[in-house]
Amino acid sequence: MAKSLFKRLLWTYLSILVVAIVVLSLALTFIHRGYAFNEKKRMLENAAYDISGQLASWTDGGISQNELNRTVDSAGYITDSKIYVLRLEKEALANIESLNISGDLDEKYLFEDLRRIIEGETVFRRNQNSEKFGARVVFLGVPWRQKDNISGAILMFSPVNEINRNAAKMNYVIWATAIGFILLGGFIILMTSKKISSPIKEMEIAARKLSEGEDSEDIHANTDDEIGRLAETFNSMKKQLAETEKIRNSFIASVSHDLRTPLTSINGFVDGILDGVIKAEDYPKYFSIIKSETSRLNRLTSDILQTAKIQSGKLELERSEMPAVELLKSLAENMKALIDEKSISIEIECGEDEIVKADEDRLYQVLENIVGNSIKFTGRGGRIFLKAESTQNGTVFSVKDTGEGIPEGDLDRIFEKFYRADESRNAANGGSGLGLNIAKTLVELHGGSIRAVSSAGDGTEIIFDIPR
Ligand code: ADP
Repeated sequence: MAKSLFKRLLWTYLSILVVAIVVLSLALTFIHRGYAFNEKKRMLENAAYDISGQLASWTDGGISQNELNRTVDSAGYITDSKIYVLRLEKEALANIESLNISGDLDEKYLFEDLRRIIEGETVFRRNQNSEKFGARVVFLGVPWRQKDNISGAILMFSPVNEINRNAAKMNYVIWATAIGFILLGGFIILMTSKKISSPIKEMEIAARKLSEGEDSEDIHANTDDEIGRLAETFNSMKKQLAETEKIRNSFIASVSHDLRTPLTSINGFVDGILDGVIKAEDYPKYFSIIKSETSRLNRLTSDILQTAKIQSGKLELERSEMPAVELLKSLAENMKALIDEKSISIEIECGEDEIVKADEDRLYQVLENIVGNSIKFTGRGGRIFLKAESTQNGTVFSVKDTGEGIPEGDLDRIFEKFYRADESRNAANGGSGLGLNIAKTLVELHGGSIRAVSSAGDGTEIIFDIPR
């Protein structure tokens, strides 16, 4: 893993660098050579101009042959070139090939060039192969003018070597620097890829352990980049998995306990009836207990199914607008039997034009769970107040009772799954501890929040909002 990551980074880096260096060195060589040839041409032109001047002075008798020779020599020395001055009459050009031009200076291209020079042209060749010099040369040929006549040609040959040597030196510097950077880059990449790959490798091992059901250590990436964040996310995922596992175990424990209790009592009573231990005149009493236990089982299984459905994320809301008062009224109506049984009164406080936008069935279920609790935990003759009120953001619902209230220490926890404030008291009430958790999840699915206000012995108020 580390190896392949390192290799990939290294190859990418190397190919970019090599391509960049090749392009750079080609471009620089091209520019440098262009500049160097132009510079050479300028120097040769200047020297030719000087020599022309000196030739004029020599012809006029202003300077001696020696002085002329010295000028030509020093111009040759300064411009690193070999200079020839040829006296050539125009008429001689007709048969130029037969001329023995200055000894062995009989290069082919020269005959054509001489013809042009004698016609008055300046000829420049920047990279001419010369047999005489056995090398490539820069060649400049200019006419030797005397007043209005052309008396011959000034020919200058300078080796290209020097220019090539400079270009090679420049390329050498470029490549030496490049190799330095390749080594340095390779080292940096090695370190970086190690730093990147080692937490990934750790995560790979940890993930394998987790998938095999084992626990694993936290990953320490020690960076605040993507890898650091990945390690953090991995750690929190690991924690979440452990938490889920814990919840799953306690869920199974609670569910099996809650299912077993009513099943044991039903089983016991049925056995008693079959054995004849329970007398026929007591049957109604025990049948009603069995009925209440089966209703409890029914409630429990539907709460569990509902919770499972919410958890699987399959629950989708179908929002519509409805008058809140209608919902509260139908709830009170449907719970009439339970309320009447305990002589509890329900009071609704809600304007006729109070409109709420929600999934009607889910909102009804939220209210049913909360009001169901109020009925359960409120004694005979108690009162329940249902209220819905519009605010800027939506509708706020409140269910308040005059029941036994919730001890302060339990208030934060009543919305947790399977949490029941007073286990013994609640066992009698037959709750699963899922009702408020379901209500909370459904409210949150609507984008709202829920809270409880209560103190022991002082009634309870559950408040939640459904945003518009
Ligand atoms: P349950 O099915 O046990 O009612 P809930 O999740 O609906 O489960 O409620 C959790 C616990 O919160 C209840 O067991 C009870 O202890 C407490 N509780 C909820 N509503 C009230 C209330 N109106 N008055 C007193 N206690 C309440």
